[in-house]
Amino acid sequence: MSVHLAHYLDHERCHGVRLTCLGCMGHRDLSLTAVILRLEALGLDGPRTAIGDVARFVREPCPTCGGKTFETAPAV
Ligand SMILES: [Zn+2]
Repeated sequence: MSVHLAHYLDHERCHGVRLTCLGCMGHRDLSLTAVILRLEALGLDGPRTAIGDVARFVREPCPTCGGKTFETAPAV
C-alpha cells in the first residue's frame, strides 16, 4: 500500500492507523496525528510516509505475544 498518511488526514472515515501483529493477529488503532508525530521524531517526513511502511518503524514488541512483525493499514 503506497497511500501516504497525509491522504488519510482529509479522509473522515479513516480514524487512524490499524497496527496488526502478524504473530497473533491482535490489533490496535493508533491516531494518525500521533503516528505522524512519532515518524517526525525519527527524522522522517511523517505525512509523506506510506501507511503500509509505518509497520517498519514500530519498535515495541506486541504486548500479547511479544512478536515484532506488524502490518499497518487504515483503521476504518
Ligand atoms: Zn502479537
